[in-house]
Amino acid sequence: MSAFDDLFAANADYAESFAYSALTGTAARGLAVVTCMDSRIDPLGLLGLKAGDAKILRNAGARVTDDVLRTLVLAVYLLGVQRVLVMPHTDCGMAKVTDTDVHDLTQRHGIDTRSLEFHTVPDQDAALRHDLTRIRTTPFLPDDLPVGGSIYDVRTGRLLPLVD
Ligand SMILES: [Zn+2]
Repeated sequence: MSAFDDLFAANADYAESFAYSALTGTAARGLAVVTCMDSRIDPLGLLGLKAGDAKILRNAGARVTDDVLRTLVLAVYLLGVQRVLVMPHTDCGMAKVTDTDVHDLTQRHGIDTRSLEFHTVPDQDAALRHDLTRIRTTPFLPDDLPVGGSIYDVRTGRLLPLVD
């Protein structure tokens, strides 16, 4: 018995009718999506995508960190990505706390996290615009790369209007 038995059982069923053998690592729809780790978000489903279509980059808060930029460079120049959608969401835990709050919460577990930056989001619209600007102005990505931002509403399943 392991903590992962349910997953291996489900995977055995999945592999029985596996239909993606022919896919390559190139994003078939030329898309990268930066979104949150929130378990309510089904990025492929909500965007009408399937396996093979897009690069999905997830972290707490859908923030454009150095690691996201590094991954986008690889995605654009090596893996067929030609457009980027940054997609935070409503009711995001990262928009409800500050980094100081997180440090206090982890300290209750006896852990000192002050050397970590959590990229919490005091103002979600401002953070999204900041992150879009980060992608648009990095010297490592094409100037004409389409970069859009939209907040996903976890209550309705709808994307809010595109932020330019
Ligand atoms: Zn979130």
